Amino acid sequence: MVKDHPHRSKVVVVGGGIGGLTAAALLARRGYQVSVFDQAYLPGGCASSFRRRGFAFDVGATQVAGLEPGGIHHRVFEALDMPVPPAAPCDPACAVYLPGQREPISLWRDHLQWRQERQRWFPGSEPFWQLLQTLFTASWAFQGRDPVLPPRTLKDLVGLIKALRPDTLVTVPFALSTVGDALTWCGLGKQENLRQFLDLQLKLYSQVEAADTALLYAATALGVTQAPRGLFHLEGSMQVLPHQLLRGLQRWGGKLYRRHRVEQILVTGGQAQGVVVRDLRTGRTWDEPAQEVIANTTVQDIVQLLGEAAPRGYRQRVDRLPPASGAFVVYLGVKAAAIPPGCPPHLQFYYDPAGPIAENNSLFVSVSRPGDGRAPAGQATITASSFTDPRPWWSTCDYPALKEHYTQTALARLGQFFDLAPEHLLYHEAATPRTFAKFSGRHQGIVGGIGQRVATFGPFGFAQRTPLDHLWLVGDSTHPGEGTAGVSYSAWTVVEQILS
Ligand SMILES: Cc1cc2nc3c(=O)[nH]c(=O)nc-3n(C[C@H](O)[C@H](O)[C@H](O)COP(=O)(O)OP(=O)(O)OC[C@H]3O[C@@H](n4cnc5c(N)ncnc54)[C@H](O)[C@@H]3O)c2cc1C
Repeated sequence: MVKDHPHRSKVVVVGGGIGGLTAAALLARRGYQVSVFDQAYLPGGCASSFRRRGFAFDVGATQVAGLEPGGIHHRVFEALDMPVPPAAPCDPACAVYLPGQREPISLWRDHLQWRQERQRWFPGSEPFWQLLQTLFTASWAFQGRDPVLPPRTLKDLVGLIKALRPDTLVTVPFALSTVGDALTWCGLGKQENLRQFLDLQLKLYSQVEAADTALLYAATALGVTQAPRGLFHLEGSMQVLPHQLLRGLQRWGGKLYRRHRVEQILVTGGQAQGVVVRDLRTGRTWDEPAQEVIANTTVQDIVQLLGEAAPRGYRQRVDRLPPASGAFVVYLGVKAAAIPPGCPPHLQFYYDPAGPIAENNSLFVSVSRPGDGRAPAGQATITASSFTDPRPWWSTCDYPALKEHYTQTALARLGQFFDLAPEHLLYHEAATPRTFAKFSGRHQGIVGGIGQRVATFGPFGFAQRTPLDHLWLVGDSTHPGEGTAGVSYSAWTVVEQILS
């Protein structure tokens, strides 16, 4: 981060998700006059929480990367001069149950323990994991030098070249490879349980299954789970993260306007000039001028907000994106007796091995820990999410029936692992793509970014610098993609570009 830059240029941030709040707070810290408008009542978007009957449910994100010293959230809080919210490492990061298995594959944080675990489950796969480790080490060091990806100006390109080191060269031959390619080179193309494991894990981070996930992206997504990095479980609830960013924003003079929807981005002569805001409580609308506009939206939504002002090529690129995924999530409040002893905090289940995991064929489950602030004493929360195509949720003529069907399927599946006897199940609620569209403002309730295929990741993805001057995109549609750590990187890079 460059040195302080005290002046009062005005910045408007559309959306107070983790990406928007991070960019806003860092710019406020540098002396900018920052206003964040969020259509929701609580900021945090997909990484927020809601309360019901004494339970705190995390809406979407439940695990956080980048909280360790040197990690992106840690760097952000340091720059804001704010404490890092308390969190405990998840070890294992996840316990993965493949179809028909009673014992999970545990993604341990310790390198040696994880190595022993994977050798036990996937004999002969070590060359594949060693390749991932080599690529991870080089890519991580490169990312730590904060390159702007994809580069859009000469300055970005110079910065990118400066971030290269001899060790980065090892990644170059793999820039266009997928995980599927690497499995084939290592003679593992037919190892079914390894493919299933990778499909489950990678789909969480990359939105696509292993065969199509860009290899360099996969190396990073899987590599961050090991010490000294890792995935963390926040004390209290996920809301602690946006809340602490909000405190950072306010501490440095920035403002968050809740229940304010931005309806249009104003553009004159190829340059963003401000936004049209509606106060959802009063219905009043007005033009809010700004020198810089940062959209913490999906790339589909930034095009909507630009309307006629969206450059044609940009709109066409967005239109050509493969369909994005949605999420179906059930939130359960249970008695502690429902949770098996020694239950890991995060689990994954894969149901029909013949089917893809893209459509309601897996569950990612997060369980609260005693005393972590999410449930009263003697009780717990269980949050379980699956992937779903958002389109049928909008076209169905019987939405309540579809929602009920998904809910009952999820409850039946969860009942195979947890004891969900009626006396243990105290509360349940579900969220569909329609729910996500309403509460996170995301187009059709799509989640997780544009997918980390070779054609859309890193250098080939959407830049934070849009084709319109003074208009920036932060969030999971841009590099390095989904997750609170990913969107914080995108915010950090936007701030660096604005400052310079
Ligand atoms: C089910 C699920 C599970 C997940 N699990 C994890 C996990 O365990 N770990 C992890 O790191 N990540 C996880 N993720 C991904 C992670 O939550 C997201 O990638 C990340 O939070 C997205 O942040 P963002 O900054 O892009 O903004 P969003 O979260 O999309 O927030 C955007 C904000 O902008 C506001 N907004 C949108 N449009 C407007 C408008 N026009 N005017 C005003 N306000 C607007 C919204 O109200 C919202 O607050 C999960 C996601 C889901 C859906």
